[in-house]
Amino acid sequence: MPLSFLADELKDLAANGLSRRRRVVESAQGARVVEGGREYLSFCSNDYLGLANHPALIEALRQAAGQYGVGAGASHLVCGHSAAHHQLEQELAAFAGQPAALLFSTGYMANLGIVAALAGRGGEIFADKLNHASLNDAALLSRAKLTRYPHLDLDMLERRLAASTARRKLVVTDAVFSMDGDLAPVPELAALCERHDALLLLDDAHGFGVLGEGGRGVLEHFSLLAPRPSRIIYMATLGKAAGVFGAFVAGPAVLADYLVQRARPYIYTTAMPPPLATALSASLKLIAAEPWRRERLRDSIAALKTGLKLTRWRLMESATPIQPLVIGANRETLAVSEALRERGIWVPAIRPPTVPKGEARLRISLSAAHSLEDVARLVEALNELENV
Ligand SMILES: *Cc1c(COP(=O)(O)O)cnc(C)c1O
Repeated sequence: MPLSFLADELKDLAANGLSRRRRVVESAQGARVVEGGREYLSFCSNDYLGLANHPALIEALRQAAGQYGVGAGASHLVCGHSAAHHQLEQELAAFAGQPAALLFSTGYMANLGIVAALAGRGGEIFADKLNHASLNDAALLSRAKLTRYPHLDLDMLERRLAASTARRKLVVTDAVFSMDGDLAPVPELAALCERHDALLLLDDAHGFGVLGEGGRGVLEHFSLLAPRPSRIIYMATLGKAAGVFGAFVAGPAVLADYLVQRARPYIYTTAMPPPLATALSASLKLIAAEPWRRERLRDSIAALKTGLKLTRWRLMESATPIQPLVIGANRETLAVSEALRERGIWVPAIRPPTVPKGEARLRISLSAAHSLEDVARLVEALNELENV
């Protein structure tokens, strides 16, 4: 059997409690989702503001489909760049307080394109060990040297930067770490980059829409929107809090111009369906106009923290909607996730290699779509399950 080596590897994964499976969801995303004919209270999506199924976005998409149809038909540089994409880019730039923004089809592709543009062969990339996989893959594809530093260890980062002789230096970091929920210390990182003549790429996939009074993300959170340190390059994704799909980078016009000419993941791919861009324009308006969604999130986070009375399991320190509950062993983590499912609550188990060995966890993600009663139901179930 020519493919038996694949089957062997799958067997190993299963034996270590590491196989993953896809569950088939039959409803829209929201506080409640239907899977296998059963309704679950869901704490697993990144739809932090509850916009993925919002009537205003659905209506915007419907209308835009009437005007543009469904598919973009081509890449941006051929003939797929529609007025809907163009308008969204201008709105994203204004929202981020930057001269220009460039829209990508996914965050994964945006990172591949941006990192290679900012640090190619002969460059050096300094990456937090807990960064999202797309940033690591981007570094590999860029052909720059990749140096990873321990999570948030700025002393180590500084030593590595000081020792580097690369002609271009790029520090890349999640702004909100996707499996831990903690924040990168952006002001300190920006100062470090200033001292060592490096650029700083912030991946705000989980902060955009959520952090800051206006939902403008990690830079607003740290009061760095204006004047913004000129070494910072800001990217964020649009499939999480924004509720749709896609990603963007915002910065000086020269960056966007360069990426249009040179970023292969921008050039050699079909543009996002135009109706999604129109839905995103509607989403940006709601993000700005409805701060109650962020207030609701803050209340839910507080309710979870004060409600959980755990002794063996550990809720990680996080002020974001990502609230990881570390259980440790792969099998126990899976068993708890399964016990919650039996009670009609869906919280995913996250295991290595997504998180370090021995730190398997439930990744609880909260959304503005949850009521405080929803959070109370989860708290009660977890408090009970720790003692069985
Ligand atoms: C989700 C995520 C991405 C990828 O974004 P997609 O649009 O889903 O491809 C990139 N970086 C981080 C930190 C993420 O969490």
